Amino acid sequence: AIVRPTPESEAELAFEGALRPKNLAEFVGQEKVRAQLQLLLDAARMQNRTPDHILLAGPPGLGKTTLAMIVAEESGHPLRISSGPAIQHAGDLAAVLSSLVPGEILFIDEIHRMARSAEEMLYLAMEDFRIDIMVGKGAGATSIPLDLAPFTLIGATTRSGLLPNPLRDRFGFTAHLEFYETHELEEVLVRASRLLALEIASDATAEIAGRSRGTPRIANRLLRRVRDYALVHDTDGLHAVHAALELYDVDELGLDRLDRAVLSAILARFDGGPVGLNTLAVSVGEESETIESVVEPFLVRVGLLTRTPRGRVATKAAWRHLGMTQESPGLF
Ligand code: ADP
Repeated sequence: AIVRPTPESEAELAFEGALRPKNLAEFVGQEKVRAQLQLLLDAARMQNRTPDHILLAGPPGLGKTTLAMIVAEESGHPLRISSGPAIQHAGDLAAVLSSLVPGEILFIDEIHRMARSAEEMLYLAMEDFRIDIMVGKGAGATSIPLDLAPFTLIGATTRSGLLPNPLRDRFGFTAHLEFYETHELEEVLVRASRLLALEIASDATAEIAGRSRGTPRIANRLLRRVRDYALVHDTDGLHAVHAALELYDVDELGLDRLDRAVLSAILARFDGGPVGLNTLAVSVGEESETIESVVEPFLVRVGLLTRTPRGRVATKAAWRHLGMTQESPGLF
């Protein structure tokens, strides 16, 4: 399997933390979502209640966690961070919910991966700030109601389509985060270089921004690689950008190895498609969820892939981008 570089090391996480915008005004782009969140927060403040539950949907690295932190910061309430995979039983969720303080913001990342039983508990909690705790088993089982402190749930998901309707319906507001425009990513990079006290030419930031897959996290990470390269090789500017990006297998469109592996599988093994998601996932040795929520959205956005009812199809631009040609159909 091809592993996408993730910010797993302590250093990478600290680096991300340092660059996280602290309030809505510092948050670059997503104007609509920012205005909507601002209204939600102002209304809650004026009515002296907790803000509505918020669902943030979109590919990784577009700012979902950052927005949750900003909502907590701006509403002046503490933030509790959990994630779907960490909630494997209703009891895991009950433990978190029953310990929330009034007004606390509960952020559940990858909420679509939460256990089914916990999901059902969450419905009642979101609606009435109450849960029922089951005690005992079989005929003697009883449920004990437990009142919760009022809280705001912020759920994040890479695919809102995966959430069951009853859960989706209980969010007062859903924000779909879009990929960022290149000029917005330049702004992210200018801000990051200022915070890191890096001097970097504007043609260099423009080049990095254009190759960042529309994703602030990737822009910041590439900036760091370019800085490393410039430091080690005692060079700078565009030269360092090109050399570092080549070293890390980022191409002119910003596609990384996994993006290209998926495309070239469709082209070389399935003659451009259509090919089903699962077949495709197996042929590149990745999970279908990763293909669907991480790889495909960007390929679709740059016009290299289309999703059809019969499967995934590579576009003409994909053949051109990978420098491959489609064999003309033979006579027999
Ligand atoms: P997600 O939770 O959607 O995967 P994060 O909120 O963790 O993404 O964002 C990843 C990194 O990208 C953060 O460290 C932050 O510095 C940066 N980032 C994300 N969105 C923005 C933005 N709109 N403006 C500036 N930086 C951003």
